[in-house]
Amino acid sequence: MVAEGRKNERALRTLLRDILGGYRMSDEDALQLFRTNDRSIWQIAASADEKRERVIGPIVTYVRNQNINVTNYCINSCGFCGFSKKHGEEGGYLSSRDEIRKKAMLAHQRGVTEICTVSGLHPDFDAGSYTDIITTLKEGAPGVHIHASNPMEVAYAARKSGITTTEVLKLMKAAGLGSLCGTAAEILVDRVRKVICPGKISTDEWVRIIKEAHGLGIPTTATIMYGHCETVEDRVRHLSILRAVQDETGGFTEFVPLSFVHMNTPLFRKGIARAGATGREDLLMTAVSRLYLDNIDHIQVSWVKTGLKMAELGLMAGADDLGGTMFEESISKGAGALNTDYLDPSEMERIATDIGRDLRERDTLYHLI
Ligand code: SF4
Repeated sequence: MVAEGRKNERALRTLLRDILGGYRMSDEDALQLFRTNDRSIWQIAASADEKRERVIGPIVTYVRNQNINVTNYCINSCGFCGFSKKHGEEGGYLSSRDEIRKKAMLAHQRGVTEICTVSGLHPDFDAGSYTDIITTLKEGAPGVHIHASNPMEVAYAARKSGITTTEVLKLMKAAGLGSLCGTAAEILVDRVRKVICPGKISTDEWVRIIKEAHGLGIPTTATIMYGHCETVEDRVRHLSILRAVQDETGGFTEFVPLSFVHMNTPLFRKGIARAGATGREDLLMTAVSRLYLDNIDHIQVSWVKTGLKMAELGLMAGADDLGGTMFEESISKGAGALNTDYLDPSEMERIATDIGRDLRERDTLYHLI
């Protein structure tokens, strides 16, 4: 057993050295790394950190942003969602144009450079509703980057208005969309999607809409939601789809692993999902992503999902970005996450300094400010 263990450690060391030397990891390699459950995880994290240093240098970035979720009414019932409400349900809301404009003005006064907006799929929304939201945000916060919607909302808007998804994206861009959120990806394996979000678009549709956006010059983020009922094979399949899209389009700005927040979700309450990822899995998701996604420069930690201490460890395991200050957040909070409202740059500074790196503000597209 001891000899076997040493042999495996040697093989892992060789693999990590090859990756740092420019070898492109195979899906089999990724599976092996994800399955690691002994002290070798620190070797993987150290190699990912070395790769981060070579690609990005000794900085930690963040963006000053605000979330404005316009409505939580949603026709879908995704099993991991603690945010959506049905019509008449307590806690449901739909912000008026005036409220949206006022929130945007407040964000502008706070000096945010980005407003994010993703909402529920309101039964009355169509393509015009989404472009209206973008226009209203622009009125309230001129010059601020609008990071809005996701492939699910684009598909919904197209269906409701009887137009194509490309047409929706063109309308959104004309209204002032700066970039599209790469959420609604969850796990890009239809078998899992049927369990966790049966009402959502398929893997192929998600990929198609993302490619359409990139083709129109609309950058997007890329995400994964892990730690519920997917397998490690599913995670690797997901990463492999993202890497292939990026090879083709180069339109992903960053990769954001989103650790499943289970507390208030139907999936967990019904016993279909487990109670989220473990610390080992969170660490490996960041490290393996850095090593596997050799064509996406920026790997973000989501402090909203994992908490700050785990986020700091992620920054030592391949990640380079702390995400946003988030003056308002309701989606993770709905699912039961704590401390989701605001992270002051001074607290981010404390974390960056603690790991010997400089904190730098960036805009949505990673230009340093
Ligand atoms: S995840 Fe989005 S689409 Fe699914 S129920 Fe929640 S708000 Fe609706």
